[in-house]
Amino acid sequence: MNILVINCGSSSLKYQLINMKNEEVRAKGLVERIGIEGSRVKHTTTGKEEVIIEEPMKDHRKALELVLNALVDSNYGAIKSMDDINAVGHRVVHGGERFANSVIIDDEVMKVIEECVELAPLHNPPNIMGIEACKELMPNTPMVAVFDTAFHQTIPAENYIYPLPYEYYEKYGIRKYGFHGTSHKYVSLKAAEMMNKPIDELNIITCHLGNGASVCAVNGGKSIDTSMGFTPLEGLAMGTRTGDIDPAIIPFLMEKEDLSFDEVNKMLNKKSGVLGISGLSSDFRDLEDAANEGNERAELALNIFCNRVKEYIGAYSALMCNVDALVFTAGIGENSISIRERICDGLDCIDIRLDKKLNDVRGKEAIISKDSSSVKVIVIPTNEELMIAKDTKELVEK
Ligand code: ADP
Repeated sequence: MNILVINCGSSSLKYQLINMKNEEVRAKGLVERIGIEGSRVKHTTTGKEEVIIEEPMKDHRKALELVLNALVDSNYGAIKSMDDINAVGHRVVHGGERFANSVIIDDEVMKVIEECVELAPLHNPPNIMGIEACKELMPNTPMVAVFDTAFHQTIPAENYIYPLPYEYYEKYGIRKYGFHGTSHKYVSLKAAEMMNKPIDELNIITCHLGNGASVCAVNGGKSIDTSMGFTPLEGLAMGTRTGDIDPAIIPFLMEKEDLSFDEVNKMLNKKSGVLGISGLSSDFRDLEDAANEGNERAELALNIFCNRVKEYIGAYSALMCNVDALVFTAGIGENSISIRERICDGLDCIDIRLDKKLNDVRGKEAIISKDSSSVKVIVIPTNEELMIAKDTKELVEK
């Protein structure tokens, strides 16, 4: 069974064609600048050279048409015909409170995804465009929606209700939803596999540390709390997002700096985090280089980032009592040896003991804690595409 996994952004489309027999990627690629001048597809079939197809694409439908053509191309394609695509799995950011699992897409599901646009105005509309384009171009192929929020629907009310007037939850659905669910689910399952234990017997803290970053408390395979909230702005200090701040700062700054709603939103989401603190970059490689050269603000940004992760590890340790594993994933978590070291430094008080030698690893699965550490510290490259493909296969086979 071949599954096409699609992840649509406002001007981009990422895809992978996965052979579910061996879970190997047959082809993958990225479409950039959809609807903008200079649009192109970067396509790679496994074992063949990357090709770049430059062609105007006015919308996601045109982009998907070019992707499908690339997949079946006799020179650089991966399959003979579109009939070789058995199902499509779509990443959808927001499923609100309706979806605690992935679902086969039908009209009713589309309606709910559309209702969730209000909650994810930047993300759900391009996801919908991707689904619509697939429906038109491959009307007989089953499609599944896999939501970033679904894994967190097991969070209990005491962890998802904000201490605001309760009516705002009832009227507008203001609550913690959490994001990166597909990644937290994938790495927690993988950690259980690596520890050779059933997931329902394990308490795992997963740290998805990329440009966007979140921590999740996974109790017996279920998310019981996570650091992102109503939107991805809550929680850790991120590349460009503030994470947790005193909400009173916002009206104060709006008044002092005469900021509009849009300006303040942009400042909180795009100009803050480690970029805002350092005044230098949101990229951790730049920050680590600058800190090594003595740049104090870069050093401060890294310390703030790591301290926030530490605080969440502490909070979730208290929530779950016995933690069996601490997992690092995504760009920073998978690759930054020094950030993992900074985060784990001093956590021996909660029995997290990193082995510096084992920690000298990038981008591959590894246990990096000392034997004496009762909490296993594990690096796991995330694979949201594979998780989406697995859910899709399971639902389609049902
Ligand atoms: P997203 O998918 O949210 O855009 P990624 O998971 O790709 O983010 O992570 C991007 C982040 O990973 C960037 O901040 C980048 O600096 C960081 N990163 C990638 N490789 C390294 C590395 N070798 N050392 C430190 N940080 C790294």
